[in-house]
Amino acid sequence: MAAEQYMAIARKWRPQAFDDVVGQKHITRTLTNAIASGRIHHAFLFIGSRGIGKTTTARILAKALNCTNAEGDAPTVSPCGECDNCVSIAAGNNIDVIEIDGASNNKVEDVREIRENVGMVPSSSRYKVYIIDEVHQLSTSAFNALLKTLEEPPAHAIFVLATTEAHKIPATIISRCQRYDFRRVAINEIVSLLKNILAKERLTATDEALYAIARIAEGGVRDAESILDELITYCDREITFQDVFDVLGLVAWQSFHDLCDAMLTSNVARQLEIIEEVVAAGKDLSQFAEDILRYFRNLLVCRTADSSEILLRLPEAEIEAMNTRAKKFTVVKLIKLVEQFAELVNGFDSQIAQRTALETLLIRVSRVDAEISLDTVMEKLLLLGKGGIAAAGDEAAPPPNPR
Ligand SMILES: [Zn+2]
Repeated sequence: MAAEQYMAIARKWRPQAFDDVVGQKHITRTLTNAIASGRIHHAFLFIGSRGIGKTTTARILAKALNCTNAEGDAPTVSPCGECDNCVSIAAGNNIDVIEIDGASNNKVEDVREIRENVGMVPSSSRYKVYIIDEVHQLSTSAFNALLKTLEEPPAHAIFVLATTEAHKIPATIISRCQRYDFRRVAINEIVSLLKNILAKERLTATDEALYAIARIAEGGVRDAESILDELITYCDREITFQDVFDVLGLVAWQSFHDLCDAMLTSNVARQLEIIEEVVAAGKDLSQFAEDILRYFRNLLVCRTADSSEILLRLPEAEIEAMNTRAKKFTVVKLIKLVEQFAELVNGFDSQIAQRTALETLLIRVSRVDAEISLDTVMEKLLLLGKGGIAAAGDEAAPPPNPR
């Protein structure tokens, strides 16, 4: 290994101040307000999916509480980042900031050890901060022991409990904590974060590549950063849209066009061939199914939305190729396809399945008059036969602007 060890992006550019935390303004603002007003709760519950900044925020909070360069020897909203406490907390080896992995320290003895130590005053800080990650993994007896500590915490003790699964935490614990819900980060915010990192690293990537990374990361900052890491190692020039596919081992974009064309011509043999190619190349089929869903979602966007460039963030040539194909489908057919693939993918509980379900519902609602499905036509004909068309006609006006 080289003398200068390569440091992962996520570690190297880990936010060191509340303002640097991406996509969690609602949380950092509340925390800084609490610190500024001196109303610091002794137990925090940080909830949210993995890799979106819970532990990072907990460490910044610990620095804010214990920075020794703070004015008036009190907690500060802007820790200096330079004093011994700030430096060691950032490095994860401060004696008064104890990080515990709830998954591997989930027994009652582990919590008892915390209880015994929590009474001792901090050695070089104002507060002893216990950050318990994956706290939902604690056993019932461990939770009971923790509850006792939370009921009568020493004045110098602060607990930050972090979890991806809040529903597994006893209500008695939750009621003792101030609750903070971390959000998945918006695509635009992830893209600008990645742009900032690349600028600091003196590297470049196309916008389409960054949007592709952000979409694949589905709101996870850490995932986006580690994908960027892989790409930086792979590319010695500007990172492109195609690079993202190559590095992540995703099925080539062209395969989706091919599959789409085969579906348009009802060429089943070709469709099965494409599946065979994907399997033979060792690609993940569930990922492939998600990507098909994303592809048809994009076709639906092309077919129904005028400003599709902004919604798709794909290279121009790709948008053109998709527009051509989109025109060959009816909106109803595309909605159906998206719904069917979403249902297939839904078993994986993915963001893309939820999003497309919502989008197709909205499109269906707003376009229902533009393209009447065969079922509705049949229904109308039946009603006509019974002389009841007037009542049904009220809600189904003729299409104002059919496409
Ligand atoms: Zn400091």
